[in-house]
Amino acid sequence: MSVNGDPLHSVESGKRGRNGRACRERVRYRGWVLALVAILALGALLVGMPAVQPVQARVSSTTSMVPPPVYSPPPPVEGDAPMDPPLHAQIIEYRVQPGDTLSEIAEDFGTDASPLAVINEMDNWNRLQPGDTVKVLTMSGLLHKVAPGETAEEVARKHGVDKVDLLAVNGLRENQTLQVGEELIVPGARPQREAVLAARGELYRWPLRGRLTSPFGYRWGGFHSGIDIAASPGTPVGATRPGRVRFAGWRGAYGNLVIVDHGEGITSYYAHLSSIAVSVGQTVDQGTTVGRVGSTGRSTGPHLHFEIRVNGDPRNPMDYLP
Ligand SMILES: [Zn+2]
Repeated sequence: MSVNGDPLHSVESGKRGRNGRACRERVRYRGWVLALVAILALGALLVGMPAVQPVQARVSSTTSMVPPPVYSPPPPVEGDAPMDPPLHAQIIEYRVQPGDTLSEIAEDFGTDASPLAVINEMDNWNRLQPGDTVKVLTMSGLLHKVAPGETAEEVARKHGVDKVDLLAVNGLRENQTLQVGEELIVPGARPQREAVLAARGELYRWPLRGRLTSPFGYRWGGFHSGIDIAASPGTPVGATRPGRVRFAGWRGAYGNLVIVDHGEGITSYYAHLSSIAVSVGQTVDQGTTVGRVGSTGRSTGPHLHFEIRVNGDPRNPMDYLP
C-alpha cells in the first residue's frame, strides 16, 4: 500500500474504504501525521519565540495604564522663520544697496514697509539712499521705547497686543521691572495712520502745484515767515493735512487768510487768497480746497503765501512738505 506521505493525494485517489485493513492503516497513519504536526508546531513555536517577543512587548506597552509620553519633533525652520512669531524675532541692521526700495527690503525680510518706516522714524521713505542703515524687525510689529514707570501690561495695552507674546519675545518675566529707555519688540503691533503718513513723507502735501518764488527765512533785511508759490489767479488751494479751520477772513498784510489747526500745536496759513471756501470750525481733509489763489493784502502779484507754525512759531515748510 503506497501511502507516499500525501494524505490529500491518497484521499483523492479513491482508496478510502476499499477494505478494513486500508482503513486501519489510514487511521494509524493519520495519528502519526497529527503527532508529527503537533511536534512541528511546538518546535516552530519554540524557535519562533524570540521573533515573536518584541511584538508582544510593543503590544503590552501600548495597552499599559500609563500613557506613553507625547513627543513631537520640532518642525524644520528653513524658510518659515518670519512666520514663526515671537521667539525668532530679531532686529537686523541692513545697509541699503543701490536700487533698493523700503518695500523690497521689507519683503525680503518677510515684513511690511509701513512699520519699518515708523520704526526708523523716517521723514520720507522715498528718500532712502544707498549706504543708509535701516533697522529691520524680522516680524510684524513695532519697537517701543519704555517710558519711566511703564509696565509690560501698559505697553501691551497701548499697542493692543497680547502681553504673553510681549513678554516671550523680549525674554521678560511676569511683573519684571522694565528699564527706562529700553526698546521692546511689540509683536503684531500696527503703526498709527498718522505715523505711517509721516514716515512716508505724506503727512503734509503741497497746497498747490506752482513755482516757488520766495523761500522761508531772512530776506532783504526782513524775515519771511513762509514760502511763496506763484500760480494763476483762481487756482484751488488745498489743506496741507487734515484739521479744523481756526480762522477764515481778512488779516492785514495777509489779505484773505485761512488758518487750519492740525492739533499738537501745529497750524498752517494760506494767505493772499482771492476767495475763501471754508468757515471757522469746519473740519477739512488733506487736499480740501480752503480758497483760491489771489493777490489780496500786501502782495505784488497772484501767489500763495504758505506757512506752517508750531506753537505759533513759523517753521520752514520745506522741512514738512514731501
Ligand atoms: Zn510770502
